[in-house]
Amino acid sequence: MPFKDNYQVTSTFSEYTHDFLSSHLIPPSPVNYSAVYLYISNENEMLTAAIDKRLQKGDAITEDFLADLFSRYVSFSQEIEKSVLQPFQETLTKTLANISEQLSNEKKTSINLNKLDKMLANTTLNSSLEGVVNYLVSTIDKTKSQHQALSKKLNATQQEMNMLKNKLASSRQEALVDALTGLLNRRGCDEKLQHLSLEDTHSSLAIDIDHFKKVNDTFGHFIGDKVIQRVAKAIEDHIDNEDIAVRFGGEEFVVIMVNKNRKQAKVIAEKIRKSIANLKLIQRETNTYLPPISVSIGVAQNKGITDWITLFNQADQALYQAKNTGRNCCVCA
Ligand code: GH3
Ligand code: MG
Ligand code: MG
Repeated sequence: MPFKDNYQVTSTFSEYTHDFLSSHLIPPSPVNYSAVYLYISNENEMLTAAIDKRLQKGDAITEDFLADLFSRYVSFSQEIEKSVLQPFQETLTKTLANISEQLSNEKKTSINLNKLDKMLANTTLNSSLEGVVNYLVSTIDKTKSQHQALSKKLNATQQEMNMLKNKLASSRQEALVDALTGLLNRRGCDEKLQHLSLEDTHSSLAIDIDHFKKVNDTFGHFIGDKVIQRVAKAIEDHIDNEDIAVRFGGEEFVVIMVNKNRKQAKVIAEKIRKSIANLKLIQRETNTYLPPISVSIGVAQNKGITDWITLFNQADQALYQAKNTGRNCCVCA
């Protein structure tokens, strides 16, 4: 069943989830809650099948079992954020609001009863009425402390859930960024492109390190990686905040020059190229200079182009020409 942004539906699922958890004596931690919520709402076939099978066999549903299901079928996917955490948070927030309302009602009732108790103490009415009032006061005090304990527990659950949400956000962030350079990876690039319209003027750079295989062969992969990082930094240093720099493959980069025509893009491409050619890289262990590094760059603009792939291909063709005309240069498509 698809996720429904419907409080009624989610709070019904939520109630069943709580029932399931308490009937199996499992605390409603976010992980346990998420796994069972997905089972109750029947949103994850594999997970549902695994729980059904376990129930059919008559084996106990344990926390370890749910944790295993969670890591196997749910983990930190987008699904859990949308279908579990959001409705859970809504339900939790409403429950907490209810409890605090109840607590304040109980406080008011307590105050009134205390007043009544004082009045009774001052009069000579029979003592059984005073006994009733005392009983009510103590009952309310008891439920009040029960509610406070519950509220404390729910607050802790909310904190745990916030942690999970942060983890989710950072793992999503990691999935969009290239670990070596900190530039976007292809997935991150795709995401950014969704917010750009090809009806506006944009340009693209295709950047490839020249004879990079030789760097690796001569100095090893570790130094090769350092060179890739320095090239990435040189690219970043010369573009605007709105531009999109991507590590597209091993030693290949793409930059989307947002709201810039080919001429403007070429000026920046030249700055990037020169700054890389001027880099003086020292190998620390041996204290020797690396031979100069250079890049070739293809530049294209989205004139008459209606999709990003075509724009990237045109920049790529220009890059191919740059390689063929001696490398360490920029060529416009
Ligand atoms: P050209 O001037 O024609 O671009 O020559 P090239 O040697 O740069 O081109 P080629 O594509 O043949 O070689 C690219 C090399 O990049 C091959 C591969 O071993 C290396 N490479 C790819 N990814 C990485 C990486 O992440 N780290 C390191 N150190 N090397 C990588
Ligand atoms: Mg290459
Ligand atoms: Mg290369």
